[in-house]
Amino acid sequence: MNNKNKKLIIVGAGVTGLSAGIHALKKGYDVEIYEKNDFPGGCCTGWVRKGYYIDNCMHWLTGTNQHTKSFKLWKRLGAIDETSNLYQGKYFYKSTYNGDEISLLTDTKKLHEDMIKLSPSDFEEIDKFIKAVDMLIKANKKEGILKSSFNTISGYLNGYLYYHKLSLNELAKKFHHPLLQKLFTDYLPGDYSAFTLLCAYAVFASGNGKVYEKGSKQFALNIANEFTRLGGKIFYNSAVEKIEIQNDNFKYIISNDKKISGDYLIYAADPMHLFTKLISIKYIPNALKKKFEDKTNNKTISSFHVAFLVDKNIPFVQEATCIEVEPIKVGKEEINRLLIKDYPYLYQNKDKKVVQLFIVQNMKDIEYWQELYRNDKEEYKKQKEKTVNELTNAVVNKFPELKNHFEVIDSWTPMTYNNYFNTYHGSYMGFVFKKNGTLRKISPRIKGVKNMFFITYWQTYMGGLPIGARLGEDIVNYL
Ligand SMILES: Cc1cc2nc3c(=O)[nH]c(=O)nc-3n(C[C@H](O)[C@H](O)[C@H](O)COP(=O)(O)OP(=O)(O)OC[C@H]3O[C@@H](n4cnc5c(N)ncnc54)[C@H](O)[C@@H]3O)c2cc1C
Repeated sequence: MNNKNKKLIIVGAGVTGLSAGIHALKKGYDVEIYEKNDFPGGCCTGWVRKGYYIDNCMHWLTGTNQHTKSFKLWKRLGAIDETSNLYQGKYFYKSTYNGDEISLLTDTKKLHEDMIKLSPSDFEEIDKFIKAVDMLIKANKKEGILKSSFNTISGYLNGYLYYHKLSLNELAKKFHHPLLQKLFTDYLPGDYSAFTLLCAYAVFASGNGKVYEKGSKQFALNIANEFTRLGGKIFYNSAVEKIEIQNDNFKYIISNDKKISGDYLIYAADPMHLFTKLISIKYIPNALKKKFEDKTNNKTISSFHVAFLVDKNIPFVQEATCIEVEPIKVGKEEINRLLIKDYPYLYQNKDKKVVQLFIVQNMKDIEYWQELYRNDKEEYKKQKEKTVNELTNAVVNKFPELKNHFEVIDSWTPMTYNNYFNTYHGSYMGFVFKKNGTLRKISPRIKGVKNMFFITYWQTYMGGLPIGARLGEDIVNYL
């Protein structure tokens, strides 16, 4: 092959970098990945505390239906195949309020019945919502929208035009029943385009968004193993500290005080880290610069998590469930809804199970944790502990049977993602996809540099694992 002996250096062994590496190896490049941590997968990972595995990432994996392009991509990457155990949840998530509950079930006919029973006066919006989701489910079952029937496509477009013009907050206001209002803002932040939630729910309900039962860490390890099986090399504990560009060409990286040269470089980590720490900001593409400078639309989210152990035999919430709590400050802002995640596929043949609290953190919260961390680490720790106590007290108040039966084993903030993976604002999904947003992709080119490219979920909307994996494959065609 004509690429033989051409050396490609990749920065970052996340799913995106690994995907690029696998594709490049197949095209004949010699590939070396430099990774700052001692494990592959980046944000797609998990870790063990007190002997229990805590999963950090996957709640749905787009591409679990075997006929889809994404499934074939996961298979090419060695992540999953037809023999993998994949878990289909009963519902995407459940919302509870004032003794009522409603779940986004895989069975949309039943959901329709449940919603109408709960709030007959909302029948028009309920019908519209279920119809739009059903169209999206059909499209997911038929390998994307292009292979769908005319009716599905026009239904899809009608749904798109209606829901993409609404934020989730605005959609919530169209319903009279308080629980239905909460349902639409319990999982994704209220300023997201309503269409985003519909898409995510439809992926889940179509069976195309199951979860790999062995968890995110093993999922990433599978891909890293495929990369090394094909002859790629991963250098762990090897943060890249500088990238040298001379005469419009990438020359070498500096990692662990060594200069390592290559014919090409693909940077597969956070772009702000690249353009502020590793090369001059003058190389940033204008479109990305504009986005980061746009103070009103430059919004991203991260999260605050608590993981605790609970006796397995105590009946508690199931899967992802949102409950009402007394107001608690998490970061800068108060919350009164709390998402609890208890996934049975993560039970570990032990007496206890790991349950997680997941709280979305918006820009103000993220900046609050960043400031604390940078100015006063002791105070950061204190505030984090205080928040954990308040959150766990709120859970015990709601479920008194948990008293003396749970133990906090870990907690983390947006700073954790920032510290481990260099992600700007601790984000792992890129910019918030707002109503009327466009899906235009930002170029992976580094201004004026011929043999260096960057790939990241900040380049396009919706983020997540399949976007990274796809961008990773696509970028190799640029070399
Ligand atoms: C709590 C949570 C839940 C999620 N849920 C889902 C979900 O259900 N479904 C879904 O599809 N996605 C989900 N995601 C998102 C998904 O994990 C990410 O979008 C995806 O993993 C990003 O992959 P990446 O390789 O592009 O970036 P990253 O994972 O950030 O990888 C970048 C890699 O580069 C390394 N690196 C950074 N700087 C340097 C440097 N200077 N030198 C060397 N190495 C460096 C980092 O250590 C990291 O390993 C979730 C993420 C989180 C955190």
